[in-house]
Formats: sequence, C-alpha cells, structure tokens
Amino acid sequence: MRLKCIKLAGFKSFVDPTTVYFPTNMGAVVGPNGCGKSNIIDAVRWVMGESSAKNLRGESMTDVIFNGSNSRKPVGQASIELVFDNSDGSLKGEYAGYAEISIRRKVTREAQNQYFLNGTKCRRRDITDIFLGTGLGPRSYSIIEQGMISRLIEAKPDELRLFIEEAAGISKYKERRRETENR
Ligand code: ATP
Ligand code: MG
Repeated sequence: MRLKCIKLAGFKSFVDPTTVYFPTNMGAVVGPNGCGKSNIIDAVRWVMGESSAKNLRGESMTDVIFNGSNSRKPVGQASIELVFDNSDGSLKGEYAGYAEISIRRKVTREAQNQYFLNGTKCRRRDITDIFLGTGLGPRSYSIIEQGMISRLIEAKPDELRLFIEEAAGISKYKERRRETENR
C-alpha cells in the first residue's frame, strides 16, 4: 500500500484546495522555513484520527482550520483526504479488494468532525481500524519526527512496549479486548 496523494483544503496554511502527489515509493517535501512542510505531516496524522490538539501543534482541535492571514479571511472548515494505492492488496480484510482507498476528515468551526471512507460517511473508528497493526496511524512509528529517535532511546519499558506491540501486529487485538471488556 502506498500513499498516492494528499488533498488539503482550509487546513492550517493550505487555505486553497491543494493536492500533493507522491508518485513513487520515496518522496520528499522540501521548502524554506515556515512554508508548510510540517503542516503536511500534521494533516496525515489528523486525517487518521489524531484527537490531541497538542500533537498537531495547536491548542484546540479547531486550530487546524485556516485562521486568516494579512490578505485572506479565516475559513469555516478544514478537510484532508489521503488516497492510497492498494492494488497490491496489502490491506487485509474488508478493503483488500479495493485498488484505491481514500480516507477523508472534515471539521467545522463548531468542532463538528466527519469522516469518509471512499467517499461514504463513516465513523472515526472505521478509519483507525484500517490502520491498526499496519504501522501506520496517527501515533505510529511510520511517522518519525524531530526528537522521536531520542524519545525511543529514552522511553520507559511500558512506552517501548507499545511500539513493539504495534510492529508485531498485537495492538489491534489488545484494542478489541479493551473494547469488549468496556462493554
Ligand atoms: P520549518 O522548516 O521551520 O520546520 P515548516 O515548513 O515545517 O517550517 P510549518 O510549521 O508546516 O512550516 O508551517 C508553519 C506556517 O503555518 C506558519 O506560517 C503558520 O502561521 C502557518 N499556520 C499554522 N496553522 C495555521 C492556521 N490555522 N491558519 C493559518 N496559518 C497557519
Ligand atoms: Mg517543520
């Protein structure tokens, strides 16, 4: 499974609809300080269900919506869509047969969140479920940021264990057990 493109609209500095394409297995986002590179990574985390504003470098969850600049007024909503190429069928389960998987999240100033899977409205959980145990996900080890390596090295055993469980594909089953026990 490969990320084909990210479609941003009204998200942080990306006020106008913008599509960033990743045509090969290796891509790089380069640009001067403050041009929006980290905002793209925030977008990837956010659409996969990140629910902590702090992890998105904001104070409240609506801080991801473009809040205006010298020349532009703030907008009312933000939307991010990720399109994955799944033609190798690497995504198991319900979605294995889809050559392309699109996930989208939208938020309004009233903090109304909506999620979409291949264009159809779904729950946040439907999106997080797809990525559990794949190594992708809002807090997964697939996204390696500044400071993450030293955090891993200095991690307490409990925290380190979470990374190992995700890599081993166990976290999905632990999540299921937690849900069952809470019912
Ligand atoms: P660096 O190279 O310094 O890491 P960067 O390319 O990663 O820079 P980002 O942190 O992605 O830059 O982008 C920062 C820019 O995004 C700032 O100019 C900031 O004002 C803008 N920005 C962040 N949130 C919003 C928002 N909600 N509305 C408008 N602009 C925003
Ligand atoms: Mg940055």
